[in-house]
Amino acid sequence: MRQSELFTKTRREAPADEVAKNAQLLIRAGYVHKEMAGVYSYLPLGLRTLNKIVEIIRQEMNAIGGQELFMSALQDKELWSRTDRWDDAKVDNWFKTTMKSGGETGLGITHEEPLTRIMTSHIASYRDLPARAYQFQNKFRNELRAKSGIMRGKEFLMKDLYSFDASEEAHETFYAAARDAYVRVFDRVGLGDRTYVTFASGGIFSEFSEEFQTVSDAGEDLIYVDEEKRLSFNKEVLTDDVLAKFGVDRANLVEKKAIEVGNIFHLGTRFSEALGLTFKDEQGADKPVVMGSYGIGPTRLMGTIVEALSDEKGLVWPEEVAPFAYHIVSLGNDDAVSATADALYEKLSGAGVEVLYDDRDLRAGEKFADSDLIGIPKRIVVGKDAAATGMFEVVNRATGAVLKKTADEILA
Ligand code: ATP
Ligand code: MG
Repeated sequence: MRQSELFTKTRREAPADEVAKNAQLLIRAGYVHKEMAGVYSYLPLGLRTLNKIVEIIRQEMNAIGGQELFMSALQDKELWSRTDRWDDAKVDNWFKTTMKSGGETGLGITHEEPLTRIMTSHIASYRDLPARAYQFQNKFRNELRAKSGIMRGKEFLMKDLYSFDASEEAHETFYAAARDAYVRVFDRVGLGDRTYVTFASGGIFSEFSEEFQTVSDAGEDLIYVDEEKRLSFNKEVLTDDVLAKFGVDRANLVEKKAIEVGNIFHLGTRFSEALGLTFKDEQGADKPVVMGSYGIGPTRLMGTIVEALSDEKGLVWPEEVAPFAYHIVSLGNDDAVSATADALYEKLSGAGVEVLYDDRDLRAGEKFADSDLIGIPKRIVVGKDAAATGMFEVVNRATGAVLKKTADEILA
């Protein structure tokens, strides 16, 4: 894409009321637009990155047998009343409204109830199990705190997968596979080294559920980490009994601020019993389906990558989630330079390489500052030297390392 045609512009200042580093940088670089506190729109660059994160998660969910669907945002009050999660006294972050046709509806905060009900039409026998279904969908939560930019939205994208099994053993096997898939997701987006699987409350067999916590000063959570054993606990489970169980000495735990980027949760039969999701086992007896839920916020994850990896000059994207692989920056409006830069752009984009080409007639300093802010992993500088020699400077955004390469070497 030619930058002269990209309608988004970089800007010097983020909105005065924006306190989060992730949103400040993403707004300045033209990735997101702030609609109001906790509500953001994704502009072309931002959507490219978000879609890459989504695709990584999709691949990993498909690899463990997930089947993608897409549920409605509008929710049925009657259904949620049956699990006692409609009442504002029980769940305080619904966005609700009265319908002109009569009655109330609300925007989905999560989707255990509607999916469990959908499954009552499809699961009747042990032969129908297991089932694993997931979606990417905007969730709506009337969040009070909105100081974390895109990491805590009132409207935000979530990947939510739900598992349906005939027994707790089968559930636990899938839960372990989901845990491994989550580890792969956080590795692939470049956060593996700083993301800890953290024990939290809410288990059936093993007594715990797990949160995926990325260490960051921007985190709203506190985790307690035994670095040597690479074990991590949240506050809820930090008891002497639990520490003894894992052979962990409280003196070896270090408190760290962290961002909850995902979690995996045992639901047991809470929803299946409340909503009548049962199956006939091999002996013909009716049994409730054993469920689990597995969430990741792709938008929160995008904000976390920014918090973790950006520097004083701007965004720094790992290759797997960058909006483009290369940023060609031409210097000056010399005809030979433009012709060389155009030809390189055509060659790379023609071969399917994702390239942003800064073909604008601006001073070198401005173009470099914009390029640093936008954070594409590799910058190719095209000046008079390159036009004369055919050797291009390729600059690594993260490390600053410079290599000299021909167009064919870059393509290879
Ligand atoms: P938190 O405690 O941070 O509010 P949660 O426990 O409410 O999170 P879940 O309901 O389990 O989170 O949601 C699953 C995932 O969705 C979270 O792990 C997180 O990645 C993401 N998420 C939750 N709330 C938000 C939000 N307000 N904005 C963006 N992402 C969110
Ligand atoms: Mg929450």
